[in-house]
Amino acid sequence: MTFNIRTEKQIRPEDTATQKEYVAYCKKVHHYSPAVQKLLTLSEDYIPDAERAYKNGRNAVWCAANNYQPPLLYSLGVIPVSYTEMGRYSQREELLIAEDYYQFPAETCSMVKCTVAQWHKRINTGTINRILGSASSCEPFNLAWEVMGEQGYDIFNNEVIYRGPTVDGERLEQLIGFMVEQMLDVALWLTGRRKIDESKLRYEIVRKNRLLCKLKRVLELRTARPFYMKSLAVILTLNVGLNNYFGQPEEYEAAIDELISELEDTPVRETDQKDVIPLVWAGGTGQEFGVYEAIDQAGGAILGLRSGPFRLYREDVPPLESLARWVYGNSVAGAGVYARNVLAAEVSRLKARGVILYGYIGCSFASVDREMWRRFFHGQDLPCLNLEGSFQTGLPTGQVLTRVKAFVEMLAA
Ligand code: SF4
Repeated sequence: MTFNIRTEKQIRPEDTATQKEYVAYCKKVHHYSPAVQKLLTLSEDYIPDAERAYKNGRNAVWCAANNYQPPLLYSLGVIPVSYTEMGRYSQREELLIAEDYYQFPAETCSMVKCTVAQWHKRINTGTINRILGSASSCEPFNLAWEVMGEQGYDIFNNEVIYRGPTVDGERLEQLIGFMVEQMLDVALWLTGRRKIDESKLRYEIVRKNRLLCKLKRVLELRTARPFYMKSLAVILTLNVGLNNYFGQPEEYEAAIDELISELEDTPVRETDQKDVIPLVWAGGTGQEFGVYEAIDQAGGAILGLRSGPFRLYREDVPPLESLARWVYGNSVAGAGVYARNVLAAEVSRLKARGVILYGYIGCSFASVDREMWRRFFHGQDLPCLNLEGSFQTGLPTGQVLTRVKAFVEMLAA
């Protein structure tokens, strides 16, 4: 398998206004990889397919679609539909709906405003009308769920999932027991029965572990072939797909199998090892896709992520307990130090030259974590770029693009 990004005429990052255009471009750039093209299609079709399935009688629920939710929900026969994937349908109009109709203050995070507006546009359309939230999310989201509840959505919030930096031993066991009860409450809300089918949940845990191992393999193979998969495809495959399989578990796994075969068949190029600037992406999925193009064109390669497959689910304990243990042993267990440890491990595994810390404008929560991580990595003489972008689609600002290019070029120098 040969590949060369120069076969496709490059677009200018500052021209990538719509995600649709950029995904189409990205598929052309990956003309040599049917697997990457399939993953991009799965990502594109995730929300419309799930809404169509719901209208055809499948059970589905809006949720973060990460953490404990996908294995539990799939085992209950419910499609986890990620509301964080609705940014791609949102533009300025959505911000105005949130601000003018719902009177969200202008400084509220754009992610919350866009998501609220998307739900608003779906009222009385016969689509998915349930939202599974979590009180661990930020205050703006708690407010969003309350507002949507008043609009007729069926809302369920589980309690705070938070493990402080020193929580261990008996206290941790209490938290795990608490989480198990919380998940049974979710099952009751979704199915009317405070019960789960252990064999189905075990099946999902085994599937998740299998996929975590496969994605680990993808990342290992990418280390030697850093330019095979470009930034957008990497972020979508790992930040989104690995969490929820884009609502299509079998198709996602088949595409990952195909990707592994493609990578294994791709010879390692010595020049790539010389040219590559290994980067770790520490943040959510930015919606201004031009940022990814700017990284690619400057010669950067996102080889590590905060959501990297670093921990398997235990298969030697009852499946609900396994989910709860994974939640509290995960990078999003609570205190920012857990995610920082994962980032630090990725940096060291990849000998990364820089970390890109990405968050959304108006998010005071993540910005605190980002600042702590920036200070930590600076203490280790590792350059970090702290970027803030918008959740709605649109042209990346010139300032963001200039900073991305300047950062990657500085690392190259
Ligand atoms: S980006 Fe920050 S403020 Fe916005 S939804 Fe996420 S945690 Fe909340």
